Amino acid sequence: MISIKNVQKVYPSKQGQVLAVDDVNLEINAGEIFGVIGYSGAGKSTLIRMLNGLEIPSSGSVVVANNEVSHIRGKNLRKARQDISMIFQHFNLLWSRTVRENIAFPLEIAGVAKEERLKRVDELIKLVGLEGREDAYPSQLSGGQKQRVGIARALANNPKVLLCDEATSALDPQTTDSILELLVDINERLGLTIVLITHEMHVIRKICHRVAVMESGKVVEIGPVLEVFKNPQEPITKRFVQQVTEPEETKETIEHLLEKFPAGQVVQLTFVGDTTGQPLITELIRKYDITVNILQGKISHTQNGSYGTLFVHLEGAESEIASAIEFIGTQQVGVEVIANG
Ligand code: ADP
Repeated sequence: MISIKNVQKVYPSKQGQVLAVDDVNLEINAGEIFGVIGYSGAGKSTLIRMLNGLEIPSSGSVVVANNEVSHIRGKNLRKARQDISMIFQHFNLLWSRTVRENIAFPLEIAGVAKEERLKRVDELIKLVGLEGREDAYPSQLSGGQKQRVGIARALANNPKVLLCDEATSALDPQTTDSILELLVDINERLGLTIVLITHEMHVIRKICHRVAVMESGKVVEIGPVLEVFKNPQEPITKRFVQQVTEPEETKETIEHLLEKFPAGQVVQLTFVGDTTGQPLITELIRKYDITVNILQGKISHTQNGSYGTLFVHLEGAESEIASAIEFIGTQQVGVEVIANG
């Protein structure tokens, strides 16, 4: 589906030239979810932008869905682009248009008749799970909903390839997971080829079939995700793999701790938004008279609030614990009972 051969991209700069992409060769198969990971400045955006003609390579060739996109322009590029769609970190929605109008926009440009357009938009709204939000404006949507609009709009013209440029980097962990699940669903249902760039290894692990690791414009390692995780070769790949091994270690510790606390229930709480672990736990103790031991966890604070995961061990009367779990649920934090009795 995609063939990148000996591609180089040099940008002019005041300090001389920047070699943003340095002799990259990649073959991406139809139906594949292919991830490109690298730190900031590695050349990921430049590479993905060359796939839809937003950047022109300085040398080499880029073929997407049988179209050589590297040097075509004008009408021919517009035609080739019908097969290639893109979603973005900051969604790039039209703020003065509703959800329905945003999704219909590429269909309008393609000259699709009104009746067919409305039908197609309804299908897309269902596909991405935005029923009931058709007439909302982007400012009235959550980040996850905005990205769903972005995805629906990108799929409007039935592309063969979907490019995702850090598509979940502006989202909290829970919303990231739901968007990634949607991408997998789309890949499986429509057979769409997906190329995503990210600096987050958990994104790669969650959905990609293969991954390429980029450093200083070069692809330094490439392989099936499971193999790369099991046996990373390059120092940079090892660092990325370490990013996501922490939860495994936490789980092991949890299992160990469970032996120490065999009674009661262990609950995993996932916090997103403006709540933090502490007030909720204080409230649980006050309201239900149960003992709450925090076994493990991490809460991150950002400008927009706090998020993170806590494993807590609840000890007390069974019915009180059940009410407490229900209470946590109504606080709209993710809650999963991971051990019982
Ligand atoms: P990434 O997406 O991995 O962060 P980029 O492709 O954005 O990497 O950038 C790769 C390199 O190219 C960086 O050194 C960046 O500063 C440089 N670069 C990117 N775009 C331009 C541009 N339009 N002009 C000059 N230099 C650029």
